[in-house]
Amino acid sequence: TTRIERHHYDVVVIGAGGAGLRAAIEARLAGKKTAIISKSLFGKAHTVMAEGGAAAAMGNVNSRDNWQVHFRDTMRGGKFLNNFRMAELHAKESPQRIWELETYGALFDRTKDGKISQRNFGGHEYPRLAHVGDRTGLELIRTLQQKIVSLQQEDKREHGDYEARIKVFAETTITELLLDGDKIAGAFGYYRESGEFVLFEAPAVVLATGGVGKSYKVTSNSWEYTGDGHALALRAGATLINMEFLQFHPTGMVWPPSVKGILVTESVRGDGGVLKNSEGKRFMFDYVPDVFRKQYAETEEEADRWYTDPDNNRRPPELLPRDEVARAINSEVKAGRGTPAGGVYLDIASRLPAEEVRRRLPSMYHQFKELADVDITKQPMEVGPTCHYVMGGIEVDPDTAAAAGHVRGLFAAGEVSGGMHGSNRLGGNSLSDLLVFGKRAGQYAATYVDETATRPKVHVSDVEAAVDQALAPLNRETGDNPYTLQQDLQAVMGDLVGIIRRKGELEDALTRLAALRQRVARVSASGGRRYNPGWHLALDLRNMLVVSECTARAALEREESRGGHTREDFPKMAPKWRMVNLVCSLDGDKVRLEHQPLPKMHAELISLFDRTELAKYLTDEELTDFDALAT
Ligand code: FAD
Repeated sequence: TTRIERHHYDVVVIGAGGAGLRAAIEARLAGKKTAIISKSLFGKAHTVMAEGGAAAAMGNVNSRDNWQVHFRDTMRGGKFLNNFRMAELHAKESPQRIWELETYGALFDRTKDGKISQRNFGGHEYPRLAHVGDRTGLELIRTLQQKIVSLQQEDKREHGDYEARIKVFAETTITELLLDGDKIAGAFGYYRESGEFVLFEAPAVVLATGGVGKSYKVTSNSWEYTGDGHALALRAGATLINMEFLQFHPTGMVWPPSVKGILVTESVRGDGGVLKNSEGKRFMFDYVPDVFRKQYAETEEEADRWYTDPDNNRRPPELLPRDEVARAINSEVKAGRGTPAGGVYLDIASRLPAEEVRRRLPSMYHQFKELADVDITKQPMEVGPTCHYVMGGIEVDPDTAAAAGHVRGLFAAGEVSGGMHGSNRLGGNSLSDLLVFGKRAGQYAATYVDETATRPKVHVSDVEAAVDQALAPLNRETGDNPYTLQQDLQAVMGDLVGIIRRKGELEDALTRLAALRQRVARVSASGGRRYNPGWHLALDLRNMLVVSECTARAALEREESRGGHTREDFPKMAPKWRMVNLVCSLDGDKVRLEHQPLPKMHAELISLFDRTELAKYLTDEELTDFDALAT
């Protein structure tokens, strides 16, 4: 028999990025015995890599900013496909969550009069991103960890044990959620180092596992982002929405090849950087879409004046939402106006004095110096699109973060959840999303535990099945190598389900994914259970595959272009598709896709927009409803 370590908790939080840590803090503050589990080392999550900042309408730099303006920007960025209630809660609660971080000890950059400073970012009407240089995520994680330590110190005083009510299990990967009927009963996984198994029994689980980027070769994401939370939720009976929407960040490094995809923060453009093609032309002026024409400058002169006089000038087109900029770069390169390494130029050197560049963008300065031997205070950077963020994710109740579908006791927050960002996320809106919905997930998971009279039971047969599933790749003599399979999967997703999509290619992708599914079912890993990355990847592949299938299926189904989903054969946004969420679920091991109507925005929110703007997005029928409302 296999040895399995067992633990009992009230709330198990899977993921130690911003969403997971904020959830854990809230569950612990509600008195719940809480476990935090993370696949990598504690402190090393995507959140720590976030550079630009956290968006919150505090109005510190421009007093005209408020939650209504932030809500509007978020809905525009998402092309009105966002879950409006999530966007509303996010816009309203972000400032409180940022100020609260200060009470935990966060040290943000300051304005001259000592308030938290805020910087410009794509799609945000006013300077809105609270930041710490270009290392904001590091400060966020540091502060949340510090808060956890302080809670552990309280517990030591009260219970004589630091880990009495909150314990971190680092380098621990969850491979299965365990159910009792339709209720969460626990989570099963392994320690990366020893390969030993561990079982957490708990009535409530918060998924905060981040994104899916490792299904693509060129990505800003690191090794651990294999869509585990998405897949765990699906297998537990929850649903995913918006999986066709992936954000390709316009500016990843393109050279040297070994670092292709690594992020170049949008702050470079927020602070004045401009994009040029190989002919030296600032090409973004040619790519302002009709829906945004009123808000963006038409000449370089106006765009440049905006940095110092934003009230009387319109913003530079380099600061359009990310999907627009990524497509523009793609088109320039395709038209033969790209750089030698296949990107475009991002120039900050000619725009700011060298010492200012080093002060505002210290990480970027070092990143280019060390990885590419480029001095960004003297030379332009070469950049191109990189797979960065998944808008799609677990369908949740907006207020409680409870997962939709046929499962109870499951909550989700952060990048793994869907709905908040619609078809495209604005930069900076993720860090604030983590805080707002991380808190809510922790809070409502705790409430759920209070309301659960009898604890669900873990069934021995389910644990045995989880063990068998985990050991299978090690027990197979023949079968594909996990690294080959990952490369093949990345090729399918990058080539056929990338930035620009076409019907025939998506159909081809689905055929190839079906073939890959057969091979992944027979994946074989050599070696034993002690620290064996090949084995770990073999287990991740099952998750990457089912999540990729959801993306490809939804991308084929949605016959329009919107945000992070561009169909060459349906290049326009179609109002009738705005009313539809594509919902993925599992039927046995088959991916099922259903249409679900989007919830309707209530009167107070919809009246924040002009009719002329709404007319660009809504169907005639919806506009008639709007007119009836207005009279
Ligand atoms: P993450 O921070 O991704 O954490 C996920 C956690 O889940 C990790 O601890 C991981 O180990 C764990 N995990 C995953 N699978 C398992 C499993 N099976 N078992 C156990 N644990 C698991 N957003 C902004 O708003 N502003 C920015 O400036 C910004 N800059 C960015 C820069 C970069 C380079 C990147 C990659 C992203 C950036 N983003 C930014 C996006 C933002 O950082 C992420 O969307 C956000 O941090 C996700 O947070 P999270 O808490 O949901 O998950």
